[in-house]
Amino acid sequence: MSRTYDYDLLVIGAGSGGVRAARIAAGHGAKVAVAEEYRVGGTCVIRGCVPKKLLVYGAHFAEDLVDAERFGWQLQGKAFDWPTLRDNVLAEVDRLNGLYKNTLASHEVTVIEGHARFVDAHRVDIGGKTVSAGHILIATGARPAVPDVEGAEHGITSNEIFHLDRLPKSMIIAGGGYIANEFAGVFHEFGTSVTLLNRSDKILREWEPALVDRLLTISLAKGLNFRFNCRLSRIEKTESGVRLHFVDGGTQDADQLLWATGRVPNTEGLGLEAAGVETGALGAILVDEANATNIKHIHAVGDVTNRVQLTPVAIREGHAFADSVFGNKPWRVDYRCIPSAVFSNPPLGSVGLTEAQARDECGSVRVYTSDFRPMKNVLAGRNERALYKLIVDASTDVVVGAHMIGPDAPEILQAVAIAVKAKLTKAQFDDTIALHPTMSEELVLMR
Ligand code: FAD
Repeated sequence: MSRTYDYDLLVIGAGSGGVRAARIAAGHGAKVAVAEEYRVGGTCVIRGCVPKKLLVYGAHFAEDLVDAERFGWQLQGKAFDWPTLRDNVLAEVDRLNGLYKNTLASHEVTVIEGHARFVDAHRVDIGGKTVSAGHILIATGARPAVPDVEGAEHGITSNEIFHLDRLPKSMIIAGGGYIANEFAGVFHEFGTSVTLLNRSDKILREWEPALVDRLLTISLAKGLNFRFNCRLSRIEKTESGVRLHFVDGGTQDADQLLWATGRVPNTEGLGLEAAGVETGALGAILVDEANATNIKHIHAVGDVTNRVQLTPVAIREGHAFADSVFGNKPWRVDYRCIPSAVFSNPPLGSVGLTEAQARDECGSVRVYTSDFRPMKNVLAGRNERALYKLIVDASTDVVVGAHMIGPDAPEILQAVAIAVKAKLTKAQFDDTIALHPTMSEELVLMR
């Protein structure tokens, strides 16, 4: 590759997509640098999937310890200590941050710390130092969107939640997406009184409605509070926390307010206009199927493109970019059948079409459901039912969607996603002998 520039590739953002792209491009022989303004690892590792999932594990013990007594275990003096969990989670994040740095170093990728801003289409200012590159990959991710309401600064976002000094006694979580529902489940189990506040009457709007209804029913029974169709007029700081004022009158106090009101692509302050890169709604970078922007040598992957905001998708896009541009092995990401989960309590897992989508796309569909109380819940005296739903294209018998809520649903769903992606038929599901006694055997027993 030509050495007219300092680097063959400059990646902006050392997150899921950026790190993968840098590593693979370097493996193909490119001279690579990565600019990072915060911490190597990005959202997923530092303040997203990983610390969140560790909190979910921590929260689960609350119910497991109660259930344990029904299984003969006598546990005295059990208590939850937030600082212990918080510090252990943050230490694990530090460890992973170190591993990511080592990976980049071992691939001879240079990490340049600082905020990156385009000077022109080939040059980028990183914390006062100008670096030039033949190709530039924008992988700057997304950041929490905070609503434009008076006093919004008195709330925190998912960026801060992992660092709380102490456990709030009460928390209002504004939002109805997966992040809101996950933190609601976690903090409720830690003993915080949680209210989920939503501006419409729907949460998890992309999800199969039957599963969402089940989550609501179970969450209400557990004691979570919901306020729907709620509009905020302002937020006031109080001695103990915040007071939320609603447009239709009334207030609600809480120790903590968490904004979980969506995420916007990180393009502000990037100087895209200096490079001539076009953006679309919410400032997302517009790319084609090969992740190329309107400027030939500038590509973008991950959340900053606002296509599918999930780590494995960002990683795959970064990998496809690096193989295509530097490895002489062009390939494109297949966006069909991306499995997803909500690590709520209980969790949801889903792949493929919902029933409504399938009716639109396939015309005639068959729907199979299994509504059951997991064996463990029966002995524990826990009245929580799981719900599995398979959507089948009636004309081909192909399973086009699988949706589940219940213990370990995301773990089970990943395996089902292979079958749905492979377009297996309902007859092939039925032909598989059940693995007994499991919850997942329901998948091959639905008649
Ligand atoms: P990121 O990983 O966000 O990396 C972008 C990097 O760019 C950051 O390190 C940032 O500091 C840096 N940066 C930004 N601007 C600049 C600049 N101008 N100069 C230099 N550096 C810059 N996804 C899942 O698949 N499963 C989950 O369970 C899940 N849970 C989540 C939970 C939470 C609370 C959050 C917030 C997200 C979660 N996600 C989850 C989403 C996932 O984290 C993102 O989809 C993923 O990290 C996107 O990767 P990325 O490479 O696009 O960007």
